[in-house]
Amino acid sequence: GKWVYSFGGGKAEGKAGLRDLLGGKGANLAEMANLGLPVPPGFTIPTSVCTYFYANGKSYPKELQSQVEKALEAVGKITGKGFGDEKNPLLVSVRSGARASMPGMMDTVLNLGLNDTTVEALAELSGDKRFAYDSYRRFITMYSDVVLGFEHHHFEDILDTYKDNKGYTLDTDLDGDDWVKLVGQYKEAVARETGKDFPQDPHEQLWGAVGAVFSSWMNTRAVTYRRLHDIPESWGTAVSVQAMVFGNMGETSATGVAFTRNPSTGESKLYGEFLINAQGEDVVAGIRTPQDITEDARIESGSDKASMEAAMPEAFKELTRIYTQLEKHYRDMQDMEFTIEQGRLWMLQTRNGKRTAKASIRIAVELANEGVISQKDAVSRIDPASLDQLLHPTIDPSANRDVIATGLPASPGAASGEIVFSSDEAAKLQADGKKVILVRVETSPEDIHGMHAAEGILTTRGGMTSHAAVVARGMGKPCVSGCGTVRVDYGRGTMSIGGRVFKAGDVITIDGSVGHVLSGRMPMIEPELSGEFATLMGWADKVRKLKVRVNGDTPEDARTAIKYGAEGIGLCRTEHMFFEETRIRTVREMILAEDEQARRAALAKLLPMQRADFVELFEIMKGLPVTIRLLDPPLHEFLPHTQGEVEEVARVMNTDPRKLADRARDLAEFNPMLGFRGVRIAIAYPEIAEMQARALFEAAIEAGKRTGEQVGLEVMVPLIVTKMEFDLIKARIDATAVSVMKETGGKLNYSVGTMIELPRACLLAGEIAETAEFFSFGTNDLTQTTFGISRDDAASFLGTYIAKGILPVDPFITVDRSGVGELVKIGVARGRKTRPDIKVGICGEHGGDPASVAFCHEIGLDYVSCSPYRVPIARLAAAQAAL
Ligand code: ADP
Ligand code: MG
Ligand code: MG
Repeated sequence: GKWVYSFGGGKAEGKAGLRDLLGGKGANLAEMANLGLPVPPGFTIPTSVCTYFYANGKSYPKELQSQVEKALEAVGKITGKGFGDEKNPLLVSVRSGARASMPGMMDTVLNLGLNDTTVEALAELSGDKRFAYDSYRRFITMYSDVVLGFEHHHFEDILDTYKDNKGYTLDTDLDGDDWVKLVGQYKEAVARETGKDFPQDPHEQLWGAVGAVFSSWMNTRAVTYRRLHDIPESWGTAVSVQAMVFGNMGETSATGVAFTRNPSTGESKLYGEFLINAQGEDVVAGIRTPQDITEDARIESGSDKASMEAAMPEAFKELTRIYTQLEKHYRDMQDMEFTIEQGRLWMLQTRNGKRTAKASIRIAVELANEGVISQKDAVSRIDPASLDQLLHPTIDPSANRDVIATGLPASPGAASGEIVFSSDEAAKLQADGKKVILVRVETSPEDIHGMHAAEGILTTRGGMTSHAAVVARGMGKPCVSGCGTVRVDYGRGTMSIGGRVFKAGDVITIDGSVGHVLSGRMPMIEPELSGEFATLMGWADKVRKLKVRVNGDTPEDARTAIKYGAEGIGLCRTEHMFFEETRIRTVREMILAEDEQARRAALAKLLPMQRADFVELFEIMKGLPVTIRLLDPPLHEFLPHTQGEVEEVARVMNTDPRKLADRARDLAEFNPMLGFRGVRIAIAYPEIAEMQARALFEAAIEAGKRTGEQVGLEVMVPLIVTKMEFDLIKARIDATAVSVMKETGGKLNYSVGTMIELPRACLLAGEIAETAEFFSFGTNDLTQTTFGISRDDAASFLGTYIAKGILPVDPFITVDRSGVGELVKIGVARGRKTRPDIKVGICGEHGGDPASVAFCHEIGLDYVSCSPYRVPIARLAAAQAAL
């Protein structure tokens, strides 16, 4: 078999299309080599070897070794060096890379091939002992950490002690002889702690590192990351071995990271950071504060350190030429890693860059406008779920800002929460329903769960490309990084800025768009939707077939939804109007009434309130369809709970509180969700449905007069299981419509339909459609009743079901295609058979879930309805489903 793919010297055996085999990094290194870009030569051991490795008790295919030897020789030929050569040693990096990028998940070893002999040769050849030993100590630390499992901080302790003794403050204070001594101490520590000398044989080093990369595929960090990002374990990782180039060879050398466009805003301008006289991870790790790449960016940031454009104009020009070429070639924004060795630029990585939702929209729209991609490409490129980020509130600009510190605006958006200093604590508090801000000196892959749990992240160290910044942007969470004036004391559980001290549990706000840290909770406002957002949504609307409505009960919901492009209300729950504090007493009066007359008296009080709610809603919706559901929740939920509440209602009703308490007890239920609710209430007390219908129709006529547009009213009966239930209520509704039209002289445009949310209703849909004029699938209740689980109680075991693979996803989030979905399909088919033009939609939470929207498109529904903030998500998901 072929187990090694070489690249370098202007050609490569691999290419970008072989990503599955070579991993993202390996495939793109090959692609760049094929494009003739300056890439240090090397080779990639494909993911097939990783698969073999795990299938065969962590061993390799037998031809691997000889193929690696051959490839190393070829690299030696191109570079004019030899691996293990004592005079002119070839040094390499060993890099991991899976199909999907897993940033920071698996570690890279640099400067491999150094030992006590070759380090001297390196010093000789470069004429720079400091450089040679700086490289060696980096190699020893990385190799020990990744391969020998000897932790980093041991070396940091040794280094700190050494610096203290010498009175040094910075690493750059150390000269060649200092590093020679330290390397000695490092090796001693390794020998002492691991019981073995640090390996001197370059081949042993190489196989050690290769094995460690493959083994790291199964480490906890990688496993967690895969779980969070749905990356299958079977993919495996590839390993790339590549000739080293040195960014730490003095003042004409550097290393950096650059994006072809700004990953935060999407602005079409080269964006990035670099560090002079540094290697590899220094930029990302935030050990020193990096410098800007372009002069524009330097001026904007007010940095007093030279930009790459000014300090290394030749290399900058070359980088500009290359990034322009790469972006055209890949037809997307690129995230690149490069190193400058003594003035010469080398490309070490390129990939499609991670970006905020805001940036991804701007970039897609601008690429389409530049003619690089099509409008449909642009629509298909945006992850609908990511729009969520854009639709979140930001700090009200008119509020007073008590800015306690300013760091880097690493990931946009604002969030408030209690301070926590550890990721475990963040996860714990979040589970308790608290909102927290994770405050760390810096983050590492071990913090992923804490970052997930937090509303936002604040770090005191690290740049715009630090771990915290990259991960937060990916998660769509606000992040302020590199906030150097904040001192964190993990031991005491405090952070201090100037003289002010904040404890764990104190509330702060971070604004990741500008880098502010503020004390206290800030008022937030609705997001402003940018021009590119509107453009993209317009393109999406052109292709989608599904209509998108909103689940909204209040005028405020309706306004938000219209702004986000909703084409009607798919579900207005009237009970929210009943639960309002000032009305609940009257509602209780109605429920606890002993006879129809008393009930009608209470209903008469509710009627004007209910009518007023609807008038406003209808006015906002200006003629768009509005589905109003009659009272649905169990009566149980409206009952007075306390003695005080009972007495209060008794006083108004002028009855004995004891009698009332008895009646309330009679109505109490063990299992209210399967109890006296939905249409069952209307069947028992038709006057309630009548009151609601009257309020609706009177409001529709009034709103119609005011706006000049007839309201598209759809009256919806919930929770039916038989046609008869529906017919009884429909007759009352129709009769009410007739009287209201007669009384007011107005005209009504309305239909009466039903919610299909119980399995029996799906099966009997054909019969129900004889009289029902529309169906709206209530997939929340349908999921509960199909699975026989309650959404409120399922949390305790659903997680286990998903972890064990019994269920692929939470069926309350993504519609269960094979069970619930099948029932919906049956319902649609039988309903349409009876009434071909019946309007069908869904109105569960699923209406805003992209995967469920795709399902609704496939089975040919007319519309989905979802919560206001999810309307744009549904519009985009519907467009992608239609592409
Ligand atoms: P990650 O996947 O964590 O980004 P990489 O394999 O890209 O890890 O390597 C980490 C760092 O080491 C990068 O910044 C890269 O620029 C640097 N690096 C990797 N290989 C080489 C090399 N051959 N020469 C110089 N620097 C290298
Ligand atoms: Mg990298
Ligand atoms: Mg329901």
